[in-house]
Amino acid sequence: MSAKNPSVLDNYPDYALNIGIEVHVQLTTNSKIFCESPNEQTKDPNLCICNVCAGYPGVLPVLNKKVVDYAILAALGTNSTINPLCSFARKHYFYPDLPKGYQTTQGADPICQEGYIPIRLEDGSIKNIRLIRIHMEEDAGKNIHAQGTNESFVDLNRAGTPLLEIVSYPDIESTYEAKAYLKALHHIVTYLGICSGNMEEGAFRADTNISVRKKDSTTFGTRCELKNINSFKFIGDAIEYEIERQIDLLESGEKVHQETRLWDTNQKISKVMRSKEEAADYRYFSDPDLPLLKIDEAWIARIKEMLPELPHAKFVRFTTDIGLSPYEAEILIDNKDLADYFEKAHALTKSRHLINWILRDLMGYLKEHKLELADCKLSPELMAELINLIDKGTINNAAAKEVFEIVMQTGQSPAIIVKEKGLEQIGSTDELEAIVKQLVANNPAQVEQYKSGKDKMFGFFVGMAMKETKGKGNPQIIQELLKKYLS
Ligand code: MN
Repeated sequence: MSAKNPSVLDNYPDYALNIGIEVHVQLTTNSKIFCESPNEQTKDPNLCICNVCAGYPGVLPVLNKKVVDYAILAALGTNSTINPLCSFARKHYFYPDLPKGYQTTQGADPICQEGYIPIRLEDGSIKNIRLIRIHMEEDAGKNIHAQGTNESFVDLNRAGTPLLEIVSYPDIESTYEAKAYLKALHHIVTYLGICSGNMEEGAFRADTNISVRKKDSTTFGTRCELKNINSFKFIGDAIEYEIERQIDLLESGEKVHQETRLWDTNQKISKVMRSKEEAADYRYFSDPDLPLLKIDEAWIARIKEMLPELPHAKFVRFTTDIGLSPYEAEILIDNKDLADYFEKAHALTKSRHLINWILRDLMGYLKEHKLELADCKLSPELMAELINLIDKGTINNAAAKEVFEIVMQTGQSPAIIVKEKGLEQIGSTDELEAIVKQLVANNPAQVEQYKSGKDKMFGFFVGMAMKETKGKGNPQIIQELLKKYLS
């Protein structure tokens, strides 16, 4: 497929890179994880809270079953093993946006373990990135530091938002793989319909643990964690920076310190945020307010029924069964609505023209007019109708573009537009032959020039013939006829 993406690691052939990624995925359930408060953050501060998510003493959490459904979906979507019995734990730390003084999460026995996510490498081969675990937990609130004053505020609308934390093994060995992994995981959770995927709003947040080591070393180097970067591109930039920073330290005889770092998108450097806590610092213990959670086969079977086709399976089907190129399939997979659009139209036409019209004309039009696919008047059915008119030779490419524009604006049927505007292609050889014969007879000077080796004159005759047919002539037939009569 594409050429290898350059990386700063290429400059250090003795070094290897290991990256493990923790992703926090916000779930789109209606209510929060342990109470009935609405799971919404867009409202004014502290409007979506209750005694439970505000952390009042003496209140009791009740687990939202839908969160478990979504966690099971995530497990099935990532080839993970679901534990029949799991529990919740308290992870203690102090922060003003966490009034309870602990986060309710899962500790030693999370809901699922040992999954994997396939990613496509630059050479097209598949590599499985293994998952250590996926667990359910609650999000904290938000501290808001007012600008220009010394005041800070706490908004607890986000407190109690259900999260899945998805933790990979340090199997990721390049910046490219890190981005491919994050995109693959992002596709999975959005295809499953359990997360909005909106990175800017923090619905999909990645913490990236990066370490370098000499290739001949069998132990991992000391890792640094890059916190909460909200775009694939910035994560790539940050990893590239961190590779060089850590190798420079080691090369100059210094040590890499285990710490959490922040990525500064303006200066394009990472900065120390804090030295990393060890797990023991959080004093995890089993939450006495929440019972053990038992998940039986029947529950899993019920969720399995809801499992949609996953992006990787769709990619394989698009490339092997339908015959799209990896590049084309990749674009469709990246946008589930577009993939669905393609499939609906493909059910009505198997033409190779379809993918070209979708990727070139449809996407181009939407981009140019800043439209969403959902607002598009050219439904998949109308698109298939247009393609069928081209394939049957009813209209030529120029007319098809004209029809396309009209359908985009009106949503009218292409066949009706063609009839009303008289755009049918002149495909009858008899009709075109008469026109070509006439042209050759009327332009003896140009014929002479062509015959004496001026090949360019061929284009003159094609243009004249198209003009004569008001753009409706079948260009292929015209060219064949011209070759015959000009020789
Ligand atoms: Mn977490």
